[in-house]
Amino acid sequence: MSNFNNLPSKLPAGKTSIFSVMTSLAREHKAIDMSQGFPNFETDAHLKQLVYEAMKKGYNQYPPMNGVPELREQIIQKIDNLYGKKYDKASEIIFTAGATQALYCAITALVHPGDEVIVFKPAYDSYEPDIKLAGGKPVLIELKGKDFKVDWQEVEEKITSKTRMIVINTPHNPTGTILDKSDMQRLEKLLRSTNIILLSDEVYEHLIFDGEEHQSASRFPGLAERAIVCASFGKTFHNTGWKMGYCVAPEVLMKEIIKLHQATVFCVNHPMQRAFTEYLKNPDHYLSLGDFYQEKRDKFLELIKDTKFKGKPAKGTYFQVLDYSEITGEYDVDLAKRLITEHSLATIPVSVFNIDGKDNKQLRFCFAKTDETLEKAAEILHKL
Ligand code: PMP
Ligand code: GLN
Repeated sequence: MSNFNNLPSKLPAGKTSIFSVMTSLAREHKAIDMSQGFPNFETDAHLKQLVYEAMKKGYNQYPPMNGVPELREQIIQKIDNLYGKKYDKASEIIFTAGATQALYCAITALVHPGDEVIVFKPAYDSYEPDIKLAGGKPVLIELKGKDFKVDWQEVEEKITSKTRMIVINTPHNPTGTILDKSDMQRLEKLLRSTNIILLSDEVYEHLIFDGEEHQSASRFPGLAERAIVCASFGKTFHNTGWKMGYCVAPEVLMKEIIKLHQATVFCVNHPMQRAFTEYLKNPDHYLSLGDFYQEKRDKFLELIKDTKFKGKPAKGTYFQVLDYSEITGEYDVDLAKRLITEHSLATIPVSVFNIDGKDNKQLRFCFAKTDETLEKAAEILHKL
């Protein structure tokens, strides 16, 4: 009889993601859900129709491994229009099962045992497991102050001969901050004489507010030549459950990533690729997103302005971080659980993204919600 009691784990510290924990608690308690990042409104009916039409036209078998050529063309043109960088359609783009798979393939393909990878904390929760699976060592650097700024001096000091990769994320989950042009120029200068690869997670590229411009790594030649830029259709088109994304990178890096892509999924959803090809022909479908979510952010902040929750307005993403230290000194995970069980409101405690679970008395609220949901959430927050 088999005995797997001592089965070695590749991720011994791995736990169920806070997103699953909070979302299922929210469902169990029928709570207003501002936890996991997804909209509670529908993706465009026209886009759904385009998927259906693609199915009816017979696009139901494997597409090419690196994606439908017309969609590759569309995305490459979009990146060129927005950021002034022309990737090669045949060798520098692939579609993936969400940005998550792009991140996984990039890290697994390019990080080798013993390599160091710099990650800024708080950080989205998929980078570190991916790095560890590849045998790499995450080198964690804390973002500084209430504005969560990168201390580039510290980055310079933490770069060693073993540094293989730096992961950046702008606009940033969970803090809602962005890297500005001077951050990117500083990074470009820092990496100039190195062989360090840049992994740039830009899934919220179109969710940027107050007239700011997204500073994609693709805009900066010294970064683009070493960067894998990851994107997600789920964030941009309100359909996170479709799990569609892509990444672009110079051919020399993409060649390695494709080997992983081929071995993990080979290719992704064909009818959806056809639908996005059509849908992306109208740039308003993504260019209007910043205004759309800025209105949601402003509505939420206006609704809670007289509560004891305080925070600087998010500059991007659909997440607002709020400090609750005027209300209680509880650990944020405890408060988040209590908010669900006692007040029927689900949020995400920021400590889960921090180094060693450091608690700064902050909760993350996803405001990709209908006005009615935002109003109900604000009513609850007024009672605290
Ligand atoms: N990166 C960040 C920063 C995210 O917030 C998310 C959200 N899920 C992802 C990557 C993954 O995107 P996807 O759902 O397309 O896999
Ligand atoms: N990106 C989403 C968030 O930050 C969650 C994605 C996931 O559940 N893995 O809430």
